[in-house]
Amino acid sequence: MTNLILFGPPGSGKGTQAAGLIDKYQLVHISTGDLFRYEMGNNTPLGLKAKAYMAEGRLVPDEVTIGMLRNKVEAHPEASGFIFDGFPRTIPQAEALDQLLAGMNTGISGLIALEVDEEEIVKRILKRGESSGRPDDNDEAIIRKRIDVYKNETSPVFDFYAASGKSHSIPGVGSVADIFDRLCATIDGL
Ligand code: AMP
Repeated sequence: MTNLILFGPPGSGKGTQAAGLIDKYQLVHISTGDLFRYEMGNNTPLGLKAKAYMAEGRLVPDEVTIGMLRNKVEAHPEASGFIFDGFPRTIPQAEALDQLLAGMNTGISGLIALEVDEEEIVKRILKRGESSGRPDDNDEAIIRKRIDVYKNETSPVFDFYAASGKSHSIPGVGSVADIFDRLCATIDGL
């Protein structure tokens, strides 16, 4: 199996790039942000639990997020691999993911971080907010909060996988096609 973590701050282009990668590598895409938005849109108990955290730009608690992720992975026994987008965002999430994959006799093939500087991210997310319908994309204070959460709680996940030589980073600026080519070159070298 090929199991990739697409990593990087909010607005770094993970979702955009994942769309191309799933086609090329025939992987199942799991975006925890998309899953939470789907649950919220359907007013499910899970969606209701996540709602306030998302609106404030904070992380949904690990036990809620990990349970949802596990269900989604287990729903795809046929998968030849996964692209995890927006997960793991904390060390406990990374540990839970490794444990889940180990139980399937597989593991993370690599983590690839898209590097984009903070002011570019804020600009991109505000632009996306014009059409995304996401309340957390429309408020600069919330966007900056999400970036702080990334720096404080999520960036240690890069070091967690770096310890086993699995973390890579590439510039996340330039055209979508150029970034895609950089990603593919990194994946093909894993
Ligand atoms: P995203 O679409 O990845 O930017 O995620 C939007 C929001 O969903 C985040 O700001 C969090 O509130 C929540 N979320 C998504 N993924 C996770 C995760 N792995 N852990 C905790 N919260 C998450």
